[in-house]
Amino acid sequence: MAYVVTEACIKCKYQDCVEVCPVDCFYEGENMLVIHPDECIDCGVCEPECPVEAIVPDTEPDIEKWAEINREYSEKWPNITKKGETPPDADEWKDKTGKAELFSPEPAKRWGGPPPIRARLERRPAGAGGWALSSFFSMNLRPSVL
Ligand code: SF4
Ligand code: SF4
Repeated sequence: MAYVVTEACIKCKYQDCVEVCPVDCFYEGENMLVIHPDECIDCGVCEPECPVEAIVPDTEPDIEKWAEINREYSEKWPNITKKGETPPDADEWKDKTGKAELFSPEPAKRWGGPPPIRARLERRPAGAGGWALSSFFSMNLRPSVL
């Protein structure tokens, strides 16, 4: 199981969740964050931190679309480990529904410089010891322009 960021995050992106994640498995798009499902250790501490209740377990019904978005874009967007600036109009969007069509596939624009190398948590097959920090390292993609 992993946790998933859903539609409610779009155009809010408060980033309170980022500060509490023990394994830094959030990735930042232009107008929302996602969680890497293979890095999330299912601790659940981010779920109550989100002011708009955008974070849910992937066991929730009808979550497949957002689970797939989290998987796909956590491989494309830059990793975020510290809370940055909240969008100035976040409060105006926090209670709105039907935001899915506003999803942006673009990565966060404030990132620049060379791609970081960071340790990645790999999920091991059931029965092989569960979670473990592997020696596998991944390159996180960053946009080439600010
Ligand atoms: S706290 Fe909620 S709204 Fe803010 S970035 Fe995290 S998931 Fe998105
Ligand atoms: S459940 Fe835990 S490990 Fe997964 S994203 Fe939330 S804080 Fe990070």
